[in-house]
Amino acid sequence: MTDRYTKAVNSGFTKTLAKRLGLPRPAILRRYRAGDPLTVGPVLVVSDGASKADADAVAQTLLGWDLDVRRDPTDDVRWGAVVLVLTETARPADASEAVLSVGSVLRRLAGNGRVVTVSRAPADGDAPELAAARNAVDGFLRSLAKELRGGATGNGIVLTGGAAVDQTSVRATLRFFLSAKSAYVDGQLLPVGPADAEAPTSWDRPLEGKVAVVTGAARGIGAAIARTLARDGATVVCVDVPAAGEGLARTANAVGGTALQLDVTAEDAGQRILQHARERHGGLDVVVHNAGILRDKLLANMKPAQWDAVIAVNLAAQLRINEALLDAGLDGLHVVSLASTSGIAGNKGQTNYAFSKAGVIGHTRATAPLLGARGGTANAVAPGFIETDMTASIPFATRSVARLLPTLSQGGEPVDVAEAIAFLASPAAAGVNGQVLRVCGQHMVGQ
Ligand code: NAD
Repeated sequence: MTDRYTKAVNSGFTKTLAKRLGLPRPAILRRYRAGDPLTVGPVLVVSDGASKADADAVAQTLLGWDLDVRRDPTDDVRWGAVVLVLTETARPADASEAVLSVGSVLRRLAGNGRVVTVSRAPADGDAPELAAARNAVDGFLRSLAKELRGGATGNGIVLTGGAAVDQTSVRATLRFFLSAKSAYVDGQLLPVGPADAEAPTSWDRPLEGKVAVVTGAARGIGAAIARTLARDGATVVCVDVPAAGEGLARTANAVGGTALQLDVTAEDAGQRILQHARERHGGLDVVVHNAGILRDKLLANMKPAQWDAVIAVNLAAQLRINEALLDAGLDGLHVVSLASTSGIAGNKGQTNYAFSKAGVIGHTRATAPLLGARGGTANAVAPGFIETDMTASIPFATRSVARLLPTLSQGGEPVDVAEAIAFLASPAAAGVNGQVLRVCGQHMVGQ
């Protein structure tokens, strides 16, 4: 649900008033609905001269999705998206013309429009000029995203290790960034490596036939993840503590999945998850570590029980369950863990929580090659401020300020986190491994 302030500044008298007073006016974000067009208008593809062949390949991909693809920035249309391809740019000066042509269409970028850059990561041995040209895209994209208005977002795909623009996982990432599924992902650059997979039979059902486990599924973000994975075709095992049994049954019924009452801190949690998935559904393809708790206190006032509980649920449980999954030697397993922007930037009163969430980022990076060796992935999602029961407990004034800090000037919805997870959990995203994707509306705290 869009928060009350966002609703008020987008309708009737309060809209006019907010305009007159110069108050921040967060846009109503367009979110995914089956059957809606992928973008809100034609897509412009531009590049520098050296990257033209890659731009042609990107245009082919977009045409394959029945989009209205244009190559001329002077076309008099209301643009739905712009894709800027700078994959082969060798010197910073070579980017000028393409970058400025993007600038020339921004006033005609539709509300909820998209800008996506496609570039290459600097690599060891790059000449300084080449490394400069490649890294420059990072600063450009993050700044441009801050200049976009009306719910438009800017995100970047960064090819690593020789990844090609037309491989499935690059196309899957491009589709995610262009679509309404990435409504609250803004100012992010996502590295995509050469690992690849078959394209899904249907881009609307990328998890068809897969079995997914979601912990903490009784409510909030976990319930949204279960619904989104089921919508994408997965059979979902919903896990939560016995005390949340009612909510758990509600989610499991709503998604046509099964419920497993389990405290994730149990010694044998991993084995029980595996056993349930295998016995009831014949296998396990996706695990989403979402269960998490807060016990906020300044460190000077922190009681051992408050520290220990947060580490046990948010971090130690994930490690223990992952160990069991790795021991089971599953092929093609996709693990997605909930981190947090607090784990990246730190947050007063959250030393325990930030310790746990930064730990999640650490184990995700270390687990990625282990799962990658068997055709799987390990990634993390770092939500910023998301409207849930967890954040409803934050004092009103702090909550109101937190909403206005991101470029998109609002909190995210649980479904925004769920969409990012569904994308990372899909076999088509095979080249995205060991990454942390922020879903924070470009609340660029931290590095
Ligand atoms: P929530 O409190 O609404 O839901 C968490 C769920 O996890 C609950 O259903 C709870 O019963 C379950 N859970 C707690 N301990 C468990 C255990 N030991 N075993 C099994 N289940 C357990 O929280 P939320 O806001 O939906 O957050 C979900 C995840 O997203 C958490 O990991 C949280 O840290 C992370 N996150 C949330 C936000 C936000 O703004 N809401 C921001 C960043 C990260």
